[in-house]
Amino acid sequence: MTMAWDFETPAEFQAKLDWMKAFVRDEVEPLQFVLGSPYDVANPDNVALVRPLQARVREQGLWACHLGPELGGPGFGQVKLALMNEIIGRAMFGPIVFGVQAPDSGNAEILAHFGTDEQKQRYLQPLLDNEIVSCFSMTELSGGADPTLFTTTAVRDGDDWVIDGEKWFSSNARYASFYIVMAVTEPDAPPHSRMSMLIVPAETPGIEIVRDIAYGIDPEHHSHAYVRYSGVRVPADALLGSRGAAFEIAQVRLGGGRVHHAMRTLAQAQKAFDMMCTRVVSRLTRDGRLADRQMVQEKIADSWIEIEQFRLLLMRTAWRIDRYNDYKRVRKDIAAVKAAMPKLLHDIASRALHLHGALGLSNEMPFTEQVIASYMLGLADGPTEVHKVTVARQVLRDYQPDPGTFPAYHLPELRAQAERRFGRTGDAG
Ligand SMILES: Cc1cc2nc3c(=O)[nH]c(=O)nc-3n(C[C@H](O)[C@H](O)[C@H](O)COP(=O)(O)OP(=O)(O)OC[C@H]3O[C@@H](n4cnc5c(N)ncnc54)[C@H](O)[C@@H]3O)c2cc1C
Repeated sequence: MTMAWDFETPAEFQAKLDWMKAFVRDEVEPLQFVLGSPYDVANPDNVALVRPLQARVREQGLWACHLGPELGGPGFGQVKLALMNEIIGRAMFGPIVFGVQAPDSGNAEILAHFGTDEQKQRYLQPLLDNEIVSCFSMTELSGGADPTLFTTTAVRDGDDWVIDGEKWFSSNARYASFYIVMAVTEPDAPPHSRMSMLIVPAETPGIEIVRDIAYGIDPEHHSHAYVRYSGVRVPADALLGSRGAAFEIAQVRLGGGRVHHAMRTLAQAQKAFDMMCTRVVSRLTRDGRLADRQMVQEKIADSWIEIEQFRLLLMRTAWRIDRYNDYKRVRKDIAAVKAAMPKLLHDIASRALHLHGALGLSNEMPFTEQVIASYMLGLADGPTEVHKVTVARQVLRDYQPDPGTFPAYHLPELRAQAERRFGRTGDAG
């Protein structure tokens, strides 16, 4: 009997990937030089340039491949999605052209899982078709990494919910048609049952974007909103899922998305690596090419090893998600990928920057942006430390405390046991 432990892609799917590679390189990568935000879906320039490409993706049967057939997608498993995202991630407009952009993909997932028929009709279908985009409004200034500290409230008033509070880094709020807001609805419940999710149309009175914030030095990235909700009134049926279930819902949202994000990050790291390799075989010093210097070779070798290690961890995680179809069972793997991802991009982009000299540091190359993006990756969706804690806790579940004063694996004891079993031989030291 053969054993499935295989690193090959079936020829039929490889043909799809090859089509994607050429399409992304030739048609999608150039868009970032002539368009603003991919999320500005109503902008006539975006409509003119992005819509025809989305149509070509649909013709290929590659639109929104993370969705199951019940939502109009092909229901590709995570292994296929990972391979696709490795290509999509090379282009800033890749996710929107293939219908897999965050936070819409995660928001669609929770709407599909927990939404009522009416909510699905009103929000899910236009979101899946990318006629509209959405916002996930959770983090607060008082500490995003610990949602149990959030203070934004939604209080029942007759048939309505009334939302008051402030949210921070609500990405794409200014382009979104609706927000999914996490608010305290059950103040007296235990910490993880205090919050609910509500769907709030963007035009609802009382929503104020205090300002849009950029990360890093690039003003193009200023779409992370500081949002104030003052007496924002939505009907009772704006509730997504049940009261107090926000944490449970949030888990569904983040599982697969983290793996896709990681594969797109790998694409960026690979891009930086390709540039680094091209540079060192091109650039001459007095005694030959940069590529012939050992300390340069070390940077190339370290980068290649790190990319391959990360790719293996990621592909194995994707495989385990497909295999078990149970996110709880692969929580450790997903958290490990999330924790490793910022360092991968940081280290490889930094080496690429350094080996390009002043050009590498300049705003004429992508490396400073990639290095800053690596810090973003260590925060968005929770800081690295929190994910490492998850990994460690899950790992340590498999270990039991040692009852003795000396551990059971104390060498003198192991030796004594071996001697009791085999007798003393002349060879032992
Ligand atoms: C580009 C970008 C886009 C984002 N988009 C969205 C969005 O669309 N919607 C949304 O709701 N949020 C969004 N966020 C917010 C993101 O989820 C938070 O930044 C993240 O959860 C961390 O929260 P914080 O920034 O308040 O940091 P804090 O909670 O203040 O943490 C700061 C630092 O403290 C340390 N720390 C915190 N907790 C622990 C711990 N338990 N153990 C050890 N160390 C710890 C870590 O070093 C951490 O980096 C986005 C963030 C970024 C950068």
